[in-house]
Amino acid sequence: VFGAIVRAPEDPILGVTVAYNKDPSPNKLNLGVGAYRTEEGKPVVLSVVRKAEQLLVNDQSQIKEYLPIVGLADFNKLSAKLIFGADSPAIQQNRVVTVQCLSGTGSLRVGAEFLARHYHELTIYIPQPTWGNHPKIFTLAGLSVKTYRYYDPATRGLNFQGLLEDLGAAPSGAIVLLHACAHNPTGVDPTLEQWEQIRQLMRSKGLLPFFDSAYQGFASGSLDADAQSVRTFVADGGECLVAQSYAKNMGLYGERVGALSIVCKTEDVASRVESQLKLVIRPMYSNPPIHGASIVATILKDSNMYNEWTVELKAMADRIISMRQQLYDALSAKGTPGDWSHIIKQIGMFTFTGLNSEQVAFMTKEYHIYMTSDGRISMAGLSSKTVPHLTDAIHAAVTR
Ligand code: PMP
Repeated sequence: VFGAIVRAPEDPILGVTVAYNKDPSPNKLNLGVGAYRTEEGKPVVLSVVRKAEQLLVNDQSQIKEYLPIVGLADFNKLSAKLIFGADSPAIQQNRVVTVQCLSGTGSLRVGAEFLARHYHELTIYIPQPTWGNHPKIFTLAGLSVKTYRYYDPATRGLNFQGLLEDLGAAPSGAIVLLHACAHNPTGVDPTLEQWEQIRQLMRSKGLLPFFDSAYQGFASGSLDADAQSVRTFVADGGECLVAQSYAKNMGLYGERVGALSIVCKTEDVASRVESQLKLVIRPMYSNPPIHGASIVATILKDSNMYNEWTVELKAMADRIISMRQQLYDALSAKGTPGDWSHIIKQIGMFTFTGLNSEQVAFMTKEYHIYMTSDGRISMAGLSSKTVPHLTDAIHAAVTR
């Protein structure tokens, strides 16, 4: 009965790793996937995560019963505190509902399903460009996806005017997807002054912010600084949604741990929203897994472990920032034509190099360097040892 099924293409991002794995070259370099690697190119488990896991293993009171539909209560409370700030009035007023979901993707999807059922305006505006999974998540949840201008290829920076024009022309009430920090794939974020202007415009038009926070702490090394965009919106007392992921900032990629928070106007509304979120979640996966959320809760509630985490997180962010500098310096030293200053200006895990798909294909074929065809490279996949190889490849690609 399935004989006529057409083969689906590989995922454009995860497919890069599939191609990389097939390449026998010893010099091959995977800059496609957004996962942190050490200087030696190895994946990392944070030592604070190992410690938390050890505590959990030794704790005889830890059981494997089902969690509630909304997940681990401690985890939810601590996650809200992490993104909104410990002294957030919205939390103090019990206006925030938080549910544990399957990492960032699952949080976005649950939020989208909830909006599709209960919100009056089914159009969501996403930045152009954005993470490739966004349009699929929202479309499959039943929302209608439109884009707003975000990136300016000429400056390799923010097209702020275009952004304001497009959001200004959006129908009142429309949902707007915002990357909380470290915009993927461009590495271009609004400044705090620009965020404030975006907030004013969106609030004046009643646009509903849906933040995707996949890199808190990973952009600047500071958890608070990277949450400023979200906190600016919450401080005005208005509503918003936030999808949080612990994949990058705690290195818990495969544990699939994240949270969806919905900030409401009153405690009563928040509790009704929570009751409906349960109806969204129950038929999808019933309730979320326990292990990853227990690790996160263990770390967030203990001040020593929390501090240890921030140190390890900062070290990861700093290594990425140092890779930016090293790549920029190497291209400058080599005299590679073009302005490469965007490499040190952009923020977070990725650099949007400006290389086109033809140049990317050339670098893959001749230099065994793998990246998405839009020219995005993961700085976390780079090391001091591999910077020269990448520099040679970029130089060859742009002087061909
Ligand atoms: N949003 C953005 C912008 C991302 O880059 C990612 C990870 N690549 C995610 C969400 C979700 O990742 P995860 O589901 O692994 O938390």
